[in-house]
Amino acid sequence: MTKFWSETTKRTEPYVPGEQLNDPNIIKLNTNENPYGPSSQVKEAIQDELTRKLHLYPAPDADKLRDEIGSYYNVTKDHIFVGNGSDEVLAFSFMAFFEPHAQIRFPAITYSFYPVYAKLFNIPYEQVPLNRDFTIPAEDFFGAEGGIVIANPNAPTGLYLNVEAVEEIVINNPEYVVIIDEAYIDFAPASAAPLVKQYPNLLIVQTLSKSRSLAGLRVGFALGDPGLIEALVRIKDSFNSYTIDRLAIAGAAAAIKDRDHFRETTQTIIRTREWLISEMKKRGFHVLPSQANFIFVSHYKHSAKSLYQRLKQQGFLTRHFQKPAIDHYLRITIGTDEQMESFLKALDSITPLAA
Ligand code: PMP
Repeated sequence: MTKFWSETTKRTEPYVPGEQLNDPNIIKLNTNENPYGPSSQVKEAIQDELTRKLHLYPAPDADKLRDEIGSYYNVTKDHIFVGNGSDEVLAFSFMAFFEPHAQIRFPAITYSFYPVYAKLFNIPYEQVPLNRDFTIPAEDFFGAEGGIVIANPNAPTGLYLNVEAVEEIVINNPEYVVIIDEAYIDFAPASAAPLVKQYPNLLIVQTLSKSRSLAGLRVGFALGDPGLIEALVRIKDSFNSYTIDRLAIAGAAAAIKDRDHFRETTQTIIRTREWLISEMKKRGFHVLPSQANFIFVSHYKHSAKSLYQRLKQQGFLTRHFQKPAIDHYLRITIGTDEQMESFLKALDSITPLAA
């Protein structure tokens, strides 16, 4: 019954998220969650809100959280916008900065939410082909005629574009907003966030779902020139001036504040990633040099689809994308060392060690 649907509704092609199974026996390596869980201070902060303040509206400007993010990145809070997951921050950004008559650019292989938003908001887009090795050709993003969106590290490849290349893209598009989606940046060498004080057209988007282990809380944020942040606030206030709730503000602020927990868990994940990459290579896998909390791999003999299915039968959920350009690859989230050891055991029963 689509006769009551608006043109906007008809245009949508909703994003299909990775499987979220509730089976506790499944080891979930499919949506890049963090196996270590958040800092214990997060739980305390949420508990406090829960017991004493749930009847009160949250602060519309989420000041407490923006102050913490500001002190982490050494910017004032007028450079910070927070939202209900970085997906929402990205959606607001598409609305705030892109136009139905100007073609935006993003990589041909990237986070599949970008075309979803472009269609929803009627924004034309060009998908820029990657190099053969899946790296992003920075020069192909110079001189765009609309905005730019780049995930860095890119998803699902995990490949990282260095800060100098990001800066070149920003410099070569002075008339348009360049969004750098840094969902996985804490597992990579460096963020381009410090550049926001220098370039009024750079918007950095980050999430607390990955390195801060808070996917269930749904908190993301943007860093940018106060002029860009003001535009996002206008859009937000036109929908719901209380974008994120009390528990999210308190929990996310505590997560940003506990730098020790953050440092230890991200460093552990990076170490596990490097070890897993070498183990996968020993087993005949081609592994892209990931700088994220997942790896993207293919096998010379076994199809990714059959590996996905056989791993699932053994209790390991990975991510297989049915897109022709990458359907021979499998994306695997970095779990704990113990989880990865049992994952490798399962893999060895499917594809014995390459000679
Ligand atoms: N950007 C990228 C590249 C992602 O992979 C994800 C996670 N699916 C997000 C943004 C969204 O993260 P969240 O909404 O949980 O903040």
